[in-house]
Amino acid sequence: MKPVSAARPIEATPRQPMERREVPFSLPDIGEEEIAAVVDTLRSGWLSMGPKTQAFETEFAAAVGARYAIAVSSATAGLHLGLNAIGVGAGHEVLVPTLTFASTAATVVHVGAHPRLVDCEPDTLNISVPDAVRQCGPRTKAIVPVHFAGHPCRMDEIGELAAQEGLTVMEDAAHAPTAKYRGQSVGSISPLTVFSFYATKNMTTGEGGMITTNDAELSERIRPRRLHGMTKDAWKRYTAEGTWRYDVSYPGFKYNMTDMNAALGLVQIKRLPSLQAQRQALVTRYIEALSGMEEIELPVSSPDVEHAWHLFVIRIRPDRLTIGRDEMIRELNAAGVGTSVHFIPLHEHSYYRDVLGYRAEAFPHASAAAARIISLPLFSRMRLDDVDYVADVLGGIVRRHRR
Ligand SMILES: *Cc1c(COP(=O)(O)O)cnc(C)c1O
Repeated sequence: MKPVSAARPIEATPRQPMERREVPFSLPDIGEEEIAAVVDTLRSGWLSMGPKTQAFETEFAAAVGARYAIAVSSATAGLHLGLNAIGVGAGHEVLVPTLTFASTAATVVHVGAHPRLVDCEPDTLNISVPDAVRQCGPRTKAIVPVHFAGHPCRMDEIGELAAQEGLTVMEDAAHAPTAKYRGQSVGSISPLTVFSFYATKNMTTGEGGMITTNDAELSERIRPRRLHGMTKDAWKRYTAEGTWRYDVSYPGFKYNMTDMNAALGLVQIKRLPSLQAQRQALVTRYIEALSGMEEIELPVSSPDVEHAWHLFVIRIRPDRLTIGRDEMIRELNAAGVGTSVHFIPLHEHSYYRDVLGYRAEAFPHASAAAARIISLPLFSRMRLDDVDYVADVLGGIVRRHRR
């Protein structure tokens, strides 16, 4: 795997630093059309789950090439529902990468199962399939690959492991709308895929998520469970078309999306190709601007995939710098550049360390990467000269602290 290629390295000659500005880490991309759509919903008299949610599900399913899409209140709710629907519970284990957001594993705990943490690949930082194979045992029921930063995981190998060991694959695609693995859209590959529309994600509904599947039976199990386990179309019970009589066939959850969120989603899904094109342009600019900088490593992209570029995660090289990652973040922030760290690995959090007993030595790649990663600003409203500014600031820091 090669770093994404650059057109040309940065010039070595020092020049005037750019004028100071503020570049936040992330901003939602909400335009007048989104605002009008939400206002329209407010005026419509139908606020909670209804026709807009249904329309959004149809549009989203079409966009990712899935047969069914079920809108939910968050990706976290979607992950919980997915595990519930496939019957994961007490006495079971679920393979989860350690380099992920808290809820990928918390939802495993919520269904009463044990999250079996897995190390990452050293290049993509995605779940390591060889380590997943090692962690897989007789109690393992599912695997939740996370497409880190928007780079799809090795879905062929994960599918093979799942078939061999009888696991269900549920993809955490919170970072990966529009991503493709070997030509196939993320959302159409595994029995279950979960997307997030949280405010910082590639497309947003404020809060929200989507479960996609091609499996009719799974879809029919999940759909009622997101709304109290009430019979199909229970949301219509307040309309003339609906009926007051309903049945609760399962003690379900209150995980539905609202039509206010779906109104946002309908506009955002339409804009998604152009939002992604802007992300791609920003990433290309970052690569051009940073590829001559020996003190940092740039993210990679496999020729097998279309990357969704949710995040632009660089890694500092401590052997070439006199400062560490935390100091680098302080200097970036002091110059007006917002940053984040994705992620503090789960095994470094006190619950996983002290309660579940995980040790850093079991995750050599994730532990090593976690100490060196910085997520730079990347959002569709960002401008190309904002990228130039971030690169300029980073170049200045690196020159001041070069070994
Ligand atoms: C954001 C995120 C989630 C949670 O999404 P919500 O919609 O906020 O629940 C889950 N997994 C990953 C990898 C995420 O980045």
